[in-house]
Amino acid sequence: MFDLVVRGGIVVSASGQARADLAVSDGVVKAVAAPGDGIAGRQEVDASNKLLLPGLVDAHVHIPGYFQSRRLEDFRSATTAAAVGGVTTIMLMPTDDPRTATVQYFERKRRIGEQQSFVDFAIQALVGPRTEEADVAEMVAAGAVSFELFLAYGGNPGFIVGHDDFELQRLLRLVAEVGGTAGITPHSPSLIGRLTALQRDLEAAQRDAGATNAASVAAFAATRPTLSEGLGIARACTVARESGTRIHLRALSSQASIDLVRRFRDCVPLSSEVMSHHLLFTEEEAAGFGPYGIIVPPIRARSERDSLRAALRAAEIDMVVSDHSPVLREDKEAGWADIWRTPPGMPGLQTLCASMLALVDEGALSLPDVARACAERPAISFGLHPRKGALQAGSDADFIILDPAQPTLIEDSAQFSKAGYTTLKGRTIKSRIEAVYLRGNLVAEQGRIVGSPGGRFVRP
Ligand SMILES: [Zn+2]
Repeated sequence: MFDLVVRGGIVVSASGQARADLAVSDGVVKAVAAPGDGIAGRQEVDASNKLLLPGLVDAHVHIPGYFQSRRLEDFRSATTAAAVGGVTTIMLMPTDDPRTATVQYFERKRRIGEQQSFVDFAIQALVGPRTEEADVAEMVAAGAVSFELFLAYGGNPGFIVGHDDFELQRLLRLVAEVGGTAGITPHSPSLIGRLTALQRDLEAAQRDAGATNAASVAAFAATRPTLSEGLGIARACTVARESGTRIHLRALSSQASIDLVRRFRDCVPLSSEVMSHHLLFTEEEAAGFGPYGIIVPPIRARSERDSLRAALRAAEIDMVVSDHSPVLREDKEAGWADIWRTPPGMPGLQTLCASMLALVDEGALSLPDVARACAERPAISFGLHPRKGALQAGSDADFIILDPAQPTLIEDSAQFSKAGYTTLKGRTIKSRIEAVYLRGNLVAEQGRIVGSPGGRFVRP
C-alpha cells in the first residue's frame, strides 16, 4: 500500500507522454505503473482526463527582500507565487542583498528559506573581484548549486568582473578546482556604458530643442544590443575553454548568441537558458508595456523571438527560466516620466508554466518540450537530477495536475508576488493548473496555497 496513488493521468516527460498511475510513498515516486497494474494507495487522486507534468525547476529567481526588506518580495510571497504557478524547485540568484558572496550569507539565506519557503530551493553563490579561494571552497561545501559571475551588470560594482580578463580567468579556475558550475551573465560594460551616455546626450539635446517626449523602451534597448551579449559570451567561453570550467550562460536573447553557443559547445562544457519573456514577447509588445517592458537583456525583434523558439525546440538552448525580478509597481511607475529610473525586471515565477502553456497553445512548443526545458534540463545542468526534474521511480514526487479542458484567464488580481502584476495580463490559456504537489504533499490547489511553508534546501 502506497501513501498516495494518482490514477489515470497522462504523465508528460521529456521523451513523451503516456497514461500511467503514479505511486508515491515518503514523498518519493515509487512506481509509474501502467493503468490496471493493481497498485493501491491510502490516498487516491483521480486524474482521469488530466495531464501530470513534473514540477517545474526554475534556475533563475531573485527574491530581493528575503532578508532586509518588508517592502520587497520575500520568501513567502515569491514561493507562494511559485507553488501556485507549478514551480516546485527554485534556484536563487545571489544578487539579493546581502549578496550571497560568503558562506555566512549563504547559510543565513538557507535558514530563512527553510523557515519561509513553500517550495524546495537551491542557492547560487556570487563570485567577483573580492572572492578568495576559501570563499569558493566553503560555499561549495555548503551546497552552492552554481557560482555566478557578472561581466557587465548585476547591481553592486564591487562584484562585477567587468573587462578584467585576469579576474575572469582567476574566478573560472577557482570554480573549476572545486568541480563547480560557473553561471555567466554576459555583456560588455564599455559598450553599454558608452551607448547609454550617447543616448542620454541625444535626449538632452532633444529636450534643449523643445522636445517633451519621454525616452522609450526602444531607447533603453538600444543601449543593450545583441553585440554586447555576444562579446560577453565569446569572452567567457574563451576563458572557460582554457580553464576547463563548466559554464551556464544566462539569458540568451538573439540568434547571434545561439550561433556562438553552437560554436563553443564542442570545446566548452556548457549549458544555456532563455527567459520566458524573450520567448513570449516582441519588442513592439515590450514598447506597449512602457516601464513594465524594461528588462535586461531587452526584449528583441520578432525574428529573434522566433530564433529563440526554434533553438529551444531543437534543445540547442537547454532551459527556460523566469528570471523572476519582482520590481514593485510603485518603482516601475517612476519610469513613465523617466525611463532611466525604471529598475529592470519582470515578475515571472507564477507565470512560467502559463507562459509555456501559451506557447504550447500556439503550437510553438510541445508538452514534452516543456518537461525537458523547465524540469529535466535545469535539474540535470545543476546536479539535481533525477531527484528533481523527473517523474520516475526514485524522484521526489513533485508534480502538477493540469486540466486541459479548463481555460485560465491570467489576471493581476490572481498574482501572489508582491509585484502584484503580470505582463501576461488578459491572456487566456487553454488549460488550468488544478493542483501542485511537492514531495507528495498538496501545496497549491485552484490558484491557492495549501498548508504552511515546507520547502527544503536542495543541493547537488
Ligand atoms: Zn536575473
